[in-house]
Amino acid sequence: MNISDLKSIILDLFFPNRCPLCGKVVNWQISYCDKCYENLSRTGDELCHGCGNIASSCSCDEENFSFLRCYAAFYYEDVVKSAIVYLKHTPNDIFPGIVAEKILQDMESDCYKFKADCVVPVPMAKLKRNQRGFNQADVLAKALADALDIPLEANVLKKRNSLVAQHELTAESRRRNVKHLYEKTDTDKLKGKIVILCDDVMTTGSTLNECSKLLIEMGTAAVIIAVAATTIK
Ligand SMILES: [Zn+2]
Ligand SMILES: [Zn+2]
Repeated sequence: MNISDLKSIILDLFFPNRCPLCGKVVNWQISYCDKCYENLSRTGDELCHGCGNIASSCSCDEENFSFLRCYAAFYYEDVVKSAIVYLKHTPNDIFPGIVAEKILQDMESDCYKFKADCVVPVPMAKLKRNQRGFNQADVLAKALADALDIPLEANVLKKRNSLVAQHELTAESRRRNVKHLYEKTDTDKLKGKIVILCDDVMTTGSTLNECSKLLIEMGTAAVIIAVAATTIK
């Protein structure tokens, strides 16, 4: 046993190492449980990259989305759910790294090719950010920007403080509410750029569609959505 092993063991006694996927205490030598990694519900060819829906209920022809492509690494269930809950409380770069790796695979296997210029996280309202201390979308966006070797552009969009939680609303009120929640800034650094908009979970897609609209209004050439998980299945 060398000094650094000894240091890890002592640290482990006070700050036990946890698997960022299930949140359980694991041996200090491992990053995550193999079983958790295997059980992540990965999305596949059944997901349409045009609208983000399952191909059998693809809505590309009926709806006009403000984004160009949409990639969701996982389905929001089981281990993925616990990994996202864990990330909201304990920022880590392991789960975001796994997400980034899967998004890159999806982008590579997609017939549509593009070269993105930067990654923009979906913003969190100041009040909530102050309570939590960080925005999990920032952490995911950073991992994706690092994997693609492109810059992270945080703070180009803003979210207003809201008294109602989005997830407590029906799909229709969500769409109405979301219009007042996000706002653009007067930066011109996104002009003509291909931007990846990143978030943790996609539910109805109304938040992502609204933020994409704002990015387009700010001069962005195209918006690509990248989320860790989708609730659509
Ligand atoms: Zn685990
Ligand atoms: Zn579609």
